[in-house]
Amino acid sequence: MTFEELGLIPPILRALTDYGYEAPSPIQEAAIPPALEGRDVLGCAQTGTGKTCAFATPILQRLQAHPAPKGVRPIRALILTPTRELALQIQENIAAYAKHLPLRSTVIFGGVGQNPQVERLKRGVDILVATPGRLCDLYNQGFLNFSKLETFVLDEADRMLDMGFIHDVRKILGWLPAQKQTLFFSATMPQEITELVSSLLHDPVRVAVDPISSPVEVIDQSVYFVDKVNKTKLLADLFRKDEIQNALVFTRTKHGANKVAGELQRAGIPAAAIHGNKSQTARQQALADFKAGRVAALVATDIAARGLDIEALSHVFNYNMPDVPETYVHRIGRTGRAGHTGVAISFCDYSEKENLRGIERLINKKIRLVSDHPWPMQVFELTRDSHGRVVCAEDMEAKAASREHKRARSMSPNAGHRAHHADASTPSRAGQEKAPRQRPNPLAGERIMDATARLLSSRAPANRDTGRTGAPQARQNGQQGTRKQQRPASGGAARRGRGDQRRSKPELRRSNQKDSTEQPSLMKPYYLNDEK
Ligand code: ADP
Repeated sequence: MTFEELGLIPPILRALTDYGYEAPSPIQEAAIPPALEGRDVLGCAQTGTGKTCAFATPILQRLQAHPAPKGVRPIRALILTPTRELALQIQENIAAYAKHLPLRSTVIFGGVGQNPQVERLKRGVDILVATPGRLCDLYNQGFLNFSKLETFVLDEADRMLDMGFIHDVRKILGWLPAQKQTLFFSATMPQEITELVSSLLHDPVRVAVDPISSPVEVIDQSVYFVDKVNKTKLLADLFRKDEIQNALVFTRTKHGANKVAGELQRAGIPAAAIHGNKSQTARQQALADFKAGRVAALVATDIAARGLDIEALSHVFNYNMPDVPETYVHRIGRTGRAGHTGVAISFCDYSEKENLRGIERLINKKIRLVSDHPWPMQVFELTRDSHGRVVCAEDMEAKAASREHKRARSMSPNAGHRAHHADASTPSRAGQEKAPRQRPNPLAGERIMDATARLLSSRAPANRDTGRTGAPQARQNGQQGTRKQQRPASGGAARRGRGDQRRSKPELRRSNQKDSTEQPSLMKPYYLNDEK
């Protein structure tokens, strides 16, 4: 099957060839023809199957066939996707596929200033790629109008659910015209998603691709039995010996990701951590450095790694064995893509042996054990707390680090109104009352949280006053700052304050979670339906 046979027009075919696509992927083969006819499509497929091209090329072709009236450029296609990384990648791909067409696209997402995005919207766009939070913000401020919308794409719907965005999604659906084409993609169909599908789609064409089992066959997998304390030494050693071009290293916690990246750097291996507590700028920089080869090891939690579009990844390391066996398949599927061979290496300590057994049961084969290495396992007992209960050492360490971090923050003379903005560019105000007041740089430091991190961070119920006057009081009470405190005060603060309240339920539900990876629902790969 060729793209031409799917009915795509020459300018798009040329762009796909320029982009290096030779033949359609299964989801593209199945979804493009009905989408070109204007049918609704329900696609069951996970990240990396080629969904973007499957929905984007029919959108481009249909928009091109019915040009917008001269002089105006209303939004005629909306693509809603859960993360900023995905949003950016989708828009990048659309721009490439639309290279030979006079259509304009743009992307909006949170965590960065809205003005450049608003400016682009004002100039007019045919296709808008958006994450739910920023879309709601801009819609509520009157910058978006969907009255001329022709096609709506909901990408990774089950992940929206996982991340607590489903309420926003429902609200957005209410802002769209009833008459439209809907292309709906989800890796799994939990109850809420099925309900959404039946209310949203009209006589959809159902297409499904199931790539979950394939990576297991093509990837060279091995496991090392090694104690926790020796894992980074072994990792650094393998980096030196095995000529690893680039590797994604999965850790259990964000604290673990930071620690491993730091230790690798000290061992002379260029490494960066990427997770939800990092600012968008820091994450993009880490990803760009990794793609450019300046960083050899990208250390990530499962959540942070979702949606990262990294091709030609030579190695995946399971620094910690995942609790959920299917996560293993999902992780190793990040290597060995697009016909490349891949290598997946797992480090298993004594407490993780049961996880290894679960993985081997799932993939129905034994993973090759490498026993000839300098740090063979020597600890054969489980970690217990003071009550003798078995605990996960990494989780304990992450919790202790988080407690220590909070304690240090509350002791800091800066703990108060501006604590979140303190960084090298905003010197401490202690002892320099007379110094000219500096405006905090909203993009500096690690305090800008993305939507996921905001949802996961523990917080007190939104106090409408804290953003303007009551922050020190909130601090004294030991409460974590609300989002308002992290943003520069502006006319939009009150509106965003309402946003906080909007999302208060999921936030409160998760309020005692210390680390995203401790949440079973998020540890679970999003394409799995069954509860652990
Ligand atoms: P998804 O949207 O399902 O996550 P993408 O559309 O981002 O997947 O595709 C994953 C990767 O595969 C991207 O780098 C994309 O450019 C590439 N890709 C998609 N379709 C094809 C194709 N037909 N031929 C070659 N590469 C493709």
